[in-house]
Amino acid sequence: MAKPMKREKHYLRSRFMKPIQDIYPLLVQPKQVVITTHQKPDADAMGSSLALKHFLEQFGHSVTVISPTNWAGWVNWMPGTKEVLDYEMDRGKAQAILDKAEWLFCLDFNIFHRTKNLETPLKNMTCVKILIDHHQEPDSASFNYGISLTSKSSTCEMIYDLIVGSGHADKINIPIAECIYAGVVGDTGSFRFPSAHAGVHTLVADLKTRGLQHGKVHENLFDNFLENRLRFTGHVLLNRMEVFYEYNTALIAIPKSDLLKYYIKTGDTEGLVNYPQSIQGIKLVALVIDRDEERKWSFRSKGDFDCNTFARTYFEGGGHYNASGGRSSDSLEKTVERFKAAMKENATLLQ
Ligand code: 5GP
Ligand code: MN
Repeated sequence: MAKPMKREKHYLRSRFMKPIQDIYPLLVQPKQVVITTHQKPDADAMGSSLALKHFLEQFGHSVTVISPTNWAGWVNWMPGTKEVLDYEMDRGKAQAILDKAEWLFCLDFNIFHRTKNLETPLKNMTCVKILIDHHQEPDSASFNYGISLTSKSSTCEMIYDLIVGSGHADKINIPIAECIYAGVVGDTGSFRFPSAHAGVHTLVADLKTRGLQHGKVHENLFDNFLENRLRFTGHVLLNRMEVFYEYNTALIAIPKSDLLKYYIKTGDTEGLVNYPQSIQGIKLVALVIDRDEERKWSFRSKGDFDCNTFARTYFEGGGHYNASGGRSSDSLEKTVERFKAAMKENATLLQ
């Protein structure tokens, strides 16, 4: 069994990666650019990638977004999604584009293994690599330029900072505004997490001034599902949730049979982990889904329980202080057993 967690966590800043500001003067010189992000991209990952693409194209860069895997259907409304390459579906074409790239942007992840099958191709690239991310413990030595700030609400906020900071705020058009707003909404839980600091609201005010229709984005993100997904949510909350009041913890474990019965696709389980947080007193929520290749965890916490360290310590994962993810190769039953043991080991931190 792993050592119990400590409350404090530190991480080192890199001595290798040059500041992102150093690329600002280079933005005006057209290049072959690839933008990539983490596997199963969510609103922030896809939104930041597409916002950056729409920005760079205005300087004449040739830009391709390559996703390591497929993505949720509810992301498809984002302007530019149709041109995104799915590496798993189109390896040959994607590799040819990677081979020609002069700049590689890595958004919303900070270590190559978060890109699954793209890990080795990305590591093998010798072009300029640029990191823009807000997760903890970046592998900064792998990047030539970049910025890694855990204080940022989202990678989309960081793309906004890049556009404004490089002196090109006038290039923020409606597609860019929609993509940025979607990522901010996604990663701040619709502005409810502490990460929605004052600057986030100022950013939104600026996007609104530039013509953003925020209601349209909310409808696209949240009112765009099929009936089966809602029925599945009801089933899961009724039959698959366990609450451990003595540990202020709620656990949802979803077997593969549920995914098949309700025709659940990539992205349909997004947001499920948030429901148990509405139970009074709950400090930690853990959701595990029995996927084909692994058991995939999502963790959410309130207050001073460190989900990032929890995921790293017990389930080969990571993320943020109050939201993280991880994985396990064990069966669902064994994985759930291991979680319960970890919860008990952390009883003091969960009080
Ligand atoms: P979600 O539960 O929404 O999939 O992920 C929550 C947060 O944890 C996101 O910021 C995501 O990037 C991060 N995350 C999810 N799974 C993993 C993982 O396996 N490893 C790491 N390092 N981060 C993860
Ligand atoms: Mn993000």
